[in-house]
Amino acid sequence: MQRRDFVRKATLGAAAGVTLAGCGGGAPGEGGAPAVQTQRTIRWRLVSSFSRSLDTIYGAAEVLAERVSALTDGRFQIRPYPGGELVPAFGVLDAVQSGTVQMGHTASYYYVGKNPAFAFDTCVPFGLTSRQQTAWMYHGGGLELMRALFADFGIRPFPGGNTGAQMGGWFRREVPSLSALRGIKMRIPGLGGRVMDALGVTPQQISSSEIYPALERGAIDATEWVGPYDDEKLGFNQIARFYYYPGWWEPGPQLTFYVNQREWDRLPAAYQEALTVAAAEAHVGMQAKYDAQNPPALQRLVDAGTELRRFADDILTAAAEQTTAILEEQAADPTYNRIYTAFKDWKQRSFRWFGLAEQAYAHFAFGT
Ligand code: CA
Repeated sequence: MQRRDFVRKATLGAAAGVTLAGCGGGAPGEGGAPAVQTQRTIRWRLVSSFSRSLDTIYGAAEVLAERVSALTDGRFQIRPYPGGELVPAFGVLDAVQSGTVQMGHTASYYYVGKNPAFAFDTCVPFGLTSRQQTAWMYHGGGLELMRALFADFGIRPFPGGNTGAQMGGWFRREVPSLSALRGIKMRIPGLGGRVMDALGVTPQQISSSEIYPALERGAIDATEWVGPYDDEKLGFNQIARFYYYPGWWEPGPQLTFYVNQREWDRLPAAYQEALTVAAAEAHVGMQAKYDAQNPPALQRLVDAGTELRRFADDILTAAAEQTTAILEEQAADPTYNRIYTAFKDWKQRSFRWFGLAEQAYAHFAFGT
């Protein structure tokens, strides 16, 4: 009820705003007529990489669609499709680039095969937290760098949510030190998997629906996923007792909305603006939703017998060293190196700032 009222008010507000703008001279190229009367109805399709069961992540596309519709008085309709329905889950970039669909919602690190710099649009191990990533994107030059990278693919990216620091995942037996990791078979994709590999782990790439049975029959000893709220739904706690943290390979992974650049260029200015503010709302809203849903989910898991374990310092130190080696190794690619250099500079300055008031406060207060 509250939400409906809010949406209705926002819609009226937006319509009034557009009309007033029309009285003041009209939208560019509209000859001074009220913009709200001249704008056409547009229908777009958005393909997500995610299933509906990841409701917080998938839900960001629904939030965006709902808000864009409300802000344009229903004239700009975007219909989201879950991963695999129109195009394969990892085919989102290709689908938006080719214009098969106008929009996508995905994680850019799925596409590091096209350029390793795509990782910086999502996250790298021991990289930025959610807040630091958002600050880099919105006010630190990160989004401009990403848009330059994506321009080669005919795509305009917008930050599209963040999970916050993820958990390290579920282990059937304890790994109290670096040596205990050796020989562990763990479901962990991407750069995190490469780092784990260097630490003696055998990384496995397994899709979400196959993780539970693999863990159950002992084909894997451990798995990472997201955090308490999403992990609880997949039931890993029924098989693996030890829940490790932090997920150092995903300290603040960002999702991204992709818009086909030609389609963007054809949008009326007011619709571009609606899409921009709706994307920002979906971006910030996802993190807030996770931050609200993870605490009760964690409590339920602990109440049901899950034991929390922090990764040992020797694991974190070795993993951080291997991460740096891998990130440096890729610097031969000039496009990657330009973004990597800016990332390193931002990270250093941001860590210095967050290492003061935020860290001192968290260190003292969160444990009390
Ligand atoms: Ca993860």
